[in-house]
Amino acid sequence: MDLTSFPGLGPKRLKVLGNAGFHSVSDLLYNIPRDFVDRTRISKISDSKAGDKVIFIGKIVRAGLIRGRASRFLATLDDGTGQINLIFFRGTNHWAKNITPGTRWMAIGRINEYRGLQLVHPELQHLEEGEEFKGGIVPVYTITEEEHKAKMEQRFFRNLYARIFAMPNLSLQDSPPNELTSYMRLSPVLENLRRLHLPNSFADAMQGKLQLKKMELLPFCLRMSVRRRNLVFRGQARNLDESAIAKARAALPFTLTHGQEEALTKICEGLKGKKQFHALLQGDVGSGKTVVAMLAILAVAKCGEQCALMVPTDILARQHYKTLKPFFDAAGIRTALLLGACGVTEKRSIAHELQMGLTQVVIGTHALFSKDVLFNNLTFVVIDEQHRFGVNQREALLAKGHFPDLLVMSATPIPRSLAMTLYGDLVPIILYEKPAGRKPVKTRLVEPAKRDDMKKFLLKEALTGNRCYWVVSRVEFDDESDSKCVAEVKEELENFSNQWKVGAIHGQMDEKERDQVLNDFVKGSLQVLVATTVIEVGVNVPEANLMVIDAPDRFGLAQLHQLRGRIGRGDKEAWCFLIASEDSGARERLASFASTEDGFEIAEMDMKERGAGNLEGSEQSGAWVFRWFDWIEDQGLIQKMLELAEDILDNKPEFSEEVKEKIQKWYALLPQGNADGIH
Ligand code: ADP
Ligand code: MG
Repeated sequence: MDLTSFPGLGPKRLKVLGNAGFHSVSDLLYNIPRDFVDRTRISKISDSKAGDKVIFIGKIVRAGLIRGRASRFLATLDDGTGQINLIFFRGTNHWAKNITPGTRWMAIGRINEYRGLQLVHPELQHLEEGEEFKGGIVPVYTITEEEHKAKMEQRFFRNLYARIFAMPNLSLQDSPPNELTSYMRLSPVLENLRRLHLPNSFADAMQGKLQLKKMELLPFCLRMSVRRRNLVFRGQARNLDESAIAKARAALPFTLTHGQEEALTKICEGLKGKKQFHALLQGDVGSGKTVVAMLAILAVAKCGEQCALMVPTDILARQHYKTLKPFFDAAGIRTALLLGACGVTEKRSIAHELQMGLTQVVIGTHALFSKDVLFNNLTFVVIDEQHRFGVNQREALLAKGHFPDLLVMSATPIPRSLAMTLYGDLVPIILYEKPAGRKPVKTRLVEPAKRDDMKKFLLKEALTGNRCYWVVSRVEFDDESDSKCVAEVKEELENFSNQWKVGAIHGQMDEKERDQVLNDFVKGSLQVLVATTVIEVGVNVPEANLMVIDAPDRFGLAQLHQLRGRIGRGDKEAWCFLIASEDSGARERLASFASTEDGFEIAEMDMKERGAGNLEGSEQSGAWVFRWFDWIEDQGLIQKMLELAEDILDNKPEFSEEVKEKIQKWYALLPQGNADGIH
């Protein structure tokens, strides 16, 4: 129901509500109380201290406007046990008119201390002399500045909800079928919303919230399970050329780790199997995912089928092309590199050869899913750094084959429970160990005052053949910011010594120039590479074992982990320096980052710090945004809901055809955002 037809809301209030995002009754219903206060417990002023959340009932003994730099209205409330000041900076005239000595009020808020105890902008309710106070648990809503100005405060909203729930035929459009909620032993959604907005008790409100979480998670899990089931019907068994794998392995400069062996075996099994194979290869930075993917691609391509390896950046695509091509060449497999930067003629000829089936493997960026690129027989898609891609992009590439198998690779370690939900329809394959001989990266926090000492150390190292990434957070100079830009640092390092050669790369550079610089760094004619986060993804220079991160507090922990993953790839001792001053607030989090190299642990810290919605990749996928469900708090619910989804699809509840149809309709109608976000 549109709010305009809701009785008693004038145009002014409708406008304010609209600006706050409330256009319909259901918008209001889905507004989540930010807190609850327990009004059954009246506090005593004499027993209270700063920080307490309190409810006082008392009389005003003094009140007055105080003019000055910060004009304010001050009233003193006496509850018989003591006195406390109520302070108002906004709406002072309004309050001055109402809060007069002798009037009786209930004041709710959190006490703070400034020249004695006080309540700043408490929530107030006027009580008549002798009026009995009605206690109970009440929701607290977030009030916008505009709402506040329009005097639409907590009370306004509470009354509004009371009126909404008193409507005779209140209903919700997208609520799940009753048969489903009762099978789940849940109350109807509307009932749960009532428990939140008009709670009987705190426990009751929390019950309502929990049930809403379950109901919200279920469609997500249902879609996941449906997708996983669909794979069963679409695949095709194939023979893999495993001798090609054996040959390529013999030519590798190293032996595979146990973890790589296992991953490869699982992938090969999946590729041979009848089901369509969709898997997620998760392994921390440097765990050696590329070679596993390469061997799998080789075995498929050698059978005359086509494979596409998609990566998020040109740098990475070129790097993969360079390292993988010799192995494909040796096996007689034709490989192409397709980038956005390729010329039109080049693109056309690559596309032509793919369409004719003359090329078996194509490595490329987003250019791959352009509609001009067609395949002859695309049966295997590999996506590296998959969190960088959106759903549609992934789907667009898959659609170029006939239900191809899919291997997505990710170096963003995701806590297990989360991975289960997000990638629940992918077979999880995890590379826990890193290639042997890797030394741990020593991460140290460096005081800005020690910058020169650090540079001396780096120079000494550079002179013995070590190479150094110097990561900065910005490309261009900015007056407003105290963090340095690429050019500044490059100049600083060049001035420091002429014994080392310093290069710089960033995302705004022209492609050719950037590759040139990177190549010089790979070859060793540059010893220091000042860079932005363009090096974060997949760049692999084993000789570089030093990294400096300037202004590390500008990066999320997971991102710092990706950056640090660029070093410690060779057999030399690796050092990562984070420049952070003693007094910076970020020191503690950087110290905990420095203390571990476990990507999963860091992912967990990052998630706690920024919330799961900010996990890398979530912007692209437009996903993971839930109204009630909280990724951290409610991890335990995921497994339960996945099982329930399976049961429903297995028809364990023995719903009638009609009910099944209703359920399907229900979850198909819900916004796709959070459910289809991931793959
Ligand atoms: P990531 O998993 O981060 O993509 P890469 O595939 O880029 O890691 O591998 C990192 C480095 O480790 C590469 O230089 C690669 O050649 C090397 N590498 C991979 N597997 C092994 C191994 N089993 N033994 C030694 N080095 C390896
Ligand atoms: Mg990689």
